[in-house]
Amino acid sequence: MGEFELIQRCFAEAGRKRTDVAIGIGDDGAVVQVRDGCDLVITTDSMVEGIHFFPDVDPRSLGHKLVAVNVSDLAAMGAEPCWLSLALTLPKVDEDWLLAFAEGLSETADYYNCQLIGGDTTRGPLSLTMIAKGLVPKGKAITRAGAQNGDYLYVTGTLGDAALGLQLVQNKVEISKKHRAHILQRFHYPTARVALGQALRNIASSAMDVSDGLAGDLPHILRRSKVGAVVDVSKLPMSQALKDSCSAEQALQYALSGGEDYELLFTVPENRRGSLEVLLSPYGVPVTCIGRITGAVGKLEFKQGELPFVYQHQGFEHF
Ligand code: ADP
Ligand code: MG
Repeated sequence: MGEFELIQRCFAEAGRKRTDVAIGIGDDGAVVQVRDGCDLVITTDSMVEGIHFFPDVDPRSLGHKLVAVNVSDLAAMGAEPCWLSLALTLPKVDEDWLLAFAEGLSETADYYNCQLIGGDTTRGPLSLTMIAKGLVPKGKAITRAGAQNGDYLYVTGTLGDAALGLQLVQNKVEISKKHRAHILQRFHYPTARVALGQALRNIASSAMDVSDGLAGDLPHILRRSKVGAVVDVSKLPMSQALKDSCSAEQALQYALSGGEDYELLFTVPENRRGSLEVLLSPYGVPVTCIGRITGAVGKLEFKQGELPFVYQHQGFEHF
């Protein structure tokens, strides 16, 4: 099979077939119909071998994760994911690898109602770049810039599982059989909080997804919104699997600085807070209040209950 034929076979029908795609894969460019009354939201994420994944990673999980991390950015904006493009750089064409990668990509794109509408394929060190496009009602995108003094700070799901998963795949920790599957699932197959993100459009004053760890990511909201925050680390939501697998201190470290959980971090003004738990309960993802926005511009303070909590940031630095 020629390379062109293989790529056609792998990607031509990937994801959900959408009626708003006038021209998909096969032409010089894709053409999509943007719904009236909507803004287009566009995001890009890359994954490079040796930096974001290990050479022996299951290609199916890689295909999944590439879609999920891109869709997670759309979720954080309150957008509905629609269309994906893929820039693929491969050292060689390994048919089995490519088929498994495409399968993971396609089933996850399908799950999020997205169609793969194009891309590019080149030869070089293994690197995957995806561009995801989504729609949001005009002016309704949730940004990082809207947090205000007094707002409450929330996070979805649990924190720290993916960081423990990273340690597990590197054989740096041992985890009981009971919890392995959950931790590996959270690391290899993250879930983008899409429905919840859309539900936050009329509730949250700001939002982002947590990809580099809470302590590393929250400052982005603080900078863009020109506010500060106090986080009570005793409130950080952690899975039973994480709590059972390491010391309380270590679990807290993972929850604070571990990346790749892809949960949503968002702020809610006091007057919209009352209905929050009720409004969000149908989405099946717990939301937890972990702190409050303050007027101390750029200052991120931690406490543990009533006590001050000293935290040394050990998050991942890209450069
Ligand atoms: P061009 O030379 O005009 O850039 P290509 O021959 O690279 O076109 O691609 C042909 C078609 O296949 C285009 O529609 C392109 O979007 C699609 N395509 C190429 N590589 C990929 C890929 N890795 N994933 C999805 N679509 C791809
Ligand atoms: Mg062309």
